[in-house]
Amino acid sequence: MSRTTLKTRRSAAFERQHGRCYYCGAPMWNENPADFAAQHGLTRGAAERLRCTAEHLLPRQDGGPDSADNIVAACAFCNHTRHRTPRVLAPGDYRQRIQRRLRKRRWHPPEIRQLMPTPGASRPSS
Ligand SMILES: [Zn+2]
Repeated sequence: MSRTTLKTRRSAAFERQHGRCYYCGAPMWNENPADFAAQHGLTRGAAERLRCTAEHLLPRQDGGPDSADNIVAACAFCNHTRHRTPRVLAPGDYRQRIQRRLRKRRWHPPEIRQLMPTPGASRPSS
């Protein structure tokens, strides 16, 4: 399937998820990192983590198709981290793992955590 179709799928998933990462729930950008960074007061490096990517629930390497029901929108960090491990976790397991790490504040740096809807992140530590 062509890159154009995959991009369309990604944008559709982005809209469906209201611009939030499938795994961590962070806001993402789909087109314009400069605007996104300015809007949220992020450095470009932090904004790059939150680039919207097309995530294959069943990984491509395992024969996962580019079909709409296999594509969700995930931030670049969650996507790449999932596929960096030798044995890729199932989407539900991976999501739970991230939620646990978010509660322990061990997933995103503080400048991203402040944007997150998670219970742990909304309670200031100071
Ligand atoms: Zn994420």
